Order: sequence, then C-alpha cells, then structure tokens
Amino acid sequence: MKRILGLKWPPIAVRLVTKDESSSVLPEESKNAAPAIEDHVQNLVIGAGFGGYVAAIRLGQLGREVMLVEKELLGGVCLNVGCIPSKVLVRAAKLMKQISRAPDFGIETSRPKVNLEKLQLWKKNVIEKLRTGVAYLCKSNHVNIVYGEARFQASHQVQIKTKNESRIITADNIIIATGSRPMELPSLKFDADFIVTTTEALSLTEAPQNFVIVGGGVSGLELGMSYARFGSHVTVIEMLDQLLPGVDPELVRVVERTLRKLGVETYVKARANWAREGKVGVQLADGKEIEVPADKVMVAVGRRPNSDQIGLETTSVKTDSAGFIQVNSQMQTSEPGIYAIGDVVGMPMLAHKASKQGKVAAEAITGQASAADSKAMPSGIWTEPEIATVGLSEAEARKQGYDLIVGKFPFTALGRALAVGETEGFVKVIADKKNEQILGVHMVGSDVTDLISEAALAIEMGATLDDLASTIHPHPTLPESLMEATEAAKGKAIHILKPPSGGANPRD
Ligand code: FAD
Repeated sequence: MKRILGLKWPPIAVRLVTKDESSSVLPEESKNAAPAIEDHVQNLVIGAGFGGYVAAIRLGQLGREVMLVEKELLGGVCLNVGCIPSKVLVRAAKLMKQISRAPDFGIETSRPKVNLEKLQLWKKNVIEKLRTGVAYLCKSNHVNIVYGEARFQASHQVQIKTKNESRIITADNIIIATGSRPMELPSLKFDADFIVTTTEALSLTEAPQNFVIVGGGVSGLELGMSYARFGSHVTVIEMLDQLLPGVDPELVRVVERTLRKLGVETYVKARANWAREGKVGVQLADGKEIEVPADKVMVAVGRRPNSDQIGLETTSVKTDSAGFIQVNSQMQTSEPGIYAIGDVVGMPMLAHKASKQGKVAAEAITGQASAADSKAMPSGIWTEPEIATVGLSEAEARKQGYDLIVGKFPFTALGRALAVGETEGFVKVIADKKNEQILGVHMVGSDVTDLISEAALAIEMGATLDDLASTIHPHPTLPESLMEATEAAKGKAIHILKPPSGGANPRD
C-alpha cells in the first residue's frame, strides 16, 4: 500500500462535519492525528472550495497524487455560506410569491408565511448532502483530504497546522485556492449579531423587523429581496450611482420595479456612516444625514482575497495592490510550480470561474495546454426577477469601438412566459454589425439564470445571429426568447409587432 505522510492510501473515510456550517471547526480525526511528520507530496491544493476541490479531483482523475488541505469546511464559501444557502432562501422567497399568486390560477390558498427555523433545517440538509457528496467524490478520486491550516514556509514548503500538531509538507506543485472573506467597513465593524456578514444573514431564524443592507450589489439584493418577502422592512444603501453596479442599467430598472413593489427602500450615492442602538446613520447624495431604524445590519460591500495570512512573503508569488495573486492564463503564479485559482486571483468572484480555473491549473500541471479564457464567463444574479449575462455589455462593446446590432425580445410576447405568469423582463442580444458575431447576451426575467448557458455556448463557439436564429427551439419554452431576440436583431422576429409603415427599421 502506498503511504503518503504516514497515512494509508487511499485515505480512510472522511468524516463530515455536522456542526452549524457557518462555524469554524476541525474534525475529530485531525485532532487525533499523528505527531508532526515531514513529508513530500506531488501535488498540494490549499483550500477545498469550489476551486480547490475541483482542482484536486481533476488531478486525481489524471492519476496524480494529491493532498487537499482545508482549514474549515469541505466545499468552501459557495457550498456552506454562499451560492447554495443563498439559493435556498431565494427559492423560499420565490415560492412565497408563487403561492400568493396561486388564486390567479384558480388555486385557493391562504396567505403564505415563512417559518425560518424550518427553512434553516432544509438548508442544513441540502448543504450536508452536498458536502457528503464532495467527500465521496474526493475519496473515489484518491484525493487525500487533510483538515488543517496551511501556511508557506518557503516556496515549495508548507506548514499544516491541525488542532494537535504541525506538519511540514514539501510539494512539487501547489495550487493556492484560499478564496476570499467579507470586507469590513471601519465604521461598521462586524459583531456577528447587530452588524453581520452574509454568513450570519443566511442563518437567521427570524426575519428582522427592520433590516438595513449596506451594499446594493448581488448578495445585498438577493438576500434583501428574500427577507422583504419574509416580512422584513428592508432598506438598501449603495454608495455608487446605481444598484447592482456594473450591470446594464436597463436590466437593473426591471429589478427596481419589484423592489418598489416589495416596499424596499433604496438609497444610491449614499453612505452608511455608523450603526448603533437600533439605527444606522446614512449620508445621502445631497449631504444630508438621516437615521434609518435597524434591528439588523448586513454589510455586503465586497470581499477581499485570502492571500495575506498564508506566508506568501516566503515565496516569490506576486500579488497586486488589492492582494489578488497574479497569474497567467494557465493559472501559474510568478513562482514556477505554484498556481492560484478562484476568488484569490481576482474578479469576477464566481464559483464556476473558480472551478474552471481549478481544472485548468490541474491540467496545466499535467502538461496539458489548457488555458482560462473569460470571454464567455456567464454570471447569474438571483434577484426578483433574475438577471443573467455573458460577454460584453452594450456599453463595453461600444467603448471598445464595435459597431453594433442589438436585438431585444420581451417576455410579454412569449407564450410560455404568459402561461406561467412570468412576463417581466426581456432578452437583449448584441452582435458585431460587421460579421454578426454575438458579443454579449443580457437577460432579465424569471429563471433566466437557466437560459444563459445557451448564450455562453454561442459566444464560446463564435456563433453568429443566424446560428442562434436558425436553431430550432422547442415551443413553448423560455429559451425561445433568445432565438427571437437574435431574429429581432435582424428585424425578423415573428412575435414582435412590425413598426408602423414609415417607422424605424429595428436594425437601424
Ligand atoms: P472559497 O469558496 O472561499 O474556498 C476557499 C477555501 O479555502 C475555504 O474553504 C477556506 O476555509 C480555505 N482556506 C483558506 N485559507 C486556508 C489555509 N490557509 N489553509 C487551508 N484552507 C484554507 N458565486 C456564484 O458563482 N454563484 C452564486 O450564486 C454565488 N452566490 C454567493 C453568495 C454569497 C452569499 C457569497 C458570499 C458568495 C457567492 N458566490 C457565488 C461566490 C462564490 O461563493 C465564490 O466565488 C467561490 O466560493 C470561490 O471559490 P474558491 O474556491 O475560490 O474559494
């Protein structure tokens, strides 16, 4: 039997942590592990988030020896305190909306009411199932999981500290996948009770009466809109001049309509200056300060890379001024044999970007020509309604000097959308006028995060408007909206009224 670091190979069953998923714990076997050992491993992955565990599994698939070190929970932020739990809350909020609309479909119901304690149990079960799945996947791919905190001591030498011991590992290749953590505002320090991060906000068992959200970005609105559905009075404070900064304002306007319907108060160009005694002091765009009542304040103003506490100074790995590790398209850092992936290398901080980069790094280590390319990086925002985008926005494309054709198709004109009662929003396709190649697709509407992959494939393959327009889409389905939007770009969408004679041609 092969031995790595004094452990039997393949490793014995990985015990799963069942304590509250937001807490930082080390499993029993780490506490009882053998005394300090110095050893060598072919490949070491630091951090078992959606970047790290995917990289480790791919290395295992490729027949390489791999150790995966995790200081908290398998699955990292996304699985335990990010993508998955937030989508559980978003789903519950959407169910509440759908139930309240059931009478329109002839179904009699009483007014829905959420029990957040039960919702938390559902969330916990989902997370535990997924974490169990990840553990088995690692095991079946011979990934040796070690629970402990890793810190570089030299370029290819890492100290791993568990509760009871310290190990020194040398490795031929190291992948840094240590992720990110919430950014704190000096005037609004986290206290895990009144002023909280998204992690605590995802675990509430009661909806705060007055919930102030500082930061009108993706997490702020996903959670803010969910809690508004659960009965909170929500106030969103955003420093920049629009909610969801960076997203096409035309799409954001559709979400703003729902925010108004939900009674969410929003302030842009505003700054939260302090929070205490049930109030938040907010400086508005005109300089005036108001006091907003708050039972809970969630600060979601961005995340910073976990690159500062891992001993990088003992290596020649370079970071930029914000602390993001600098990498090339094969995820190699400035130090040969050291790779970095996911949130720790920069924007966009997305789980699927981390996993793609993990596969690229693993494949690059084994000598394959894989490279990461962000041209077709889709992005989903689970607001109400959802937003999904891929490729260049209209503004970015114009800035880059493209002459554009733009096609739009509203869900109000789509049979399926009417049948299911989800007619808000539209699909917008932008293409290069010269060769009609699709440059970007931007959607707002119900379930559009499930429609964007077709557009990502189109951009990845360099598809033109005709490629999408001539692809047969089943009827009645929501993806027909993408086909119609590409036809609209060419002035031939079937389900859009023709402009009155003498009116503008949609292509002009
Ligand atoms: P992480 O998931 O942060 O994993 C890093 C791991 O490294 C952690 O487990 C950490 O404990 C471990 N670690 C750190 N330092 C050490 C060390 N020294 N030694 C050992 N282990 C260490 N993205 C999406 O694409 N879709 C979404 O819907 C989405 N929703 C989100 C909702 C919320 C509320 C949040 C906060 C984020 C969301 N994200 C979403 C972003 C997504 O979670 C991240 O982009 C993703 O988790 C990044 O993966 P990663 O592997 O780079 O890092």
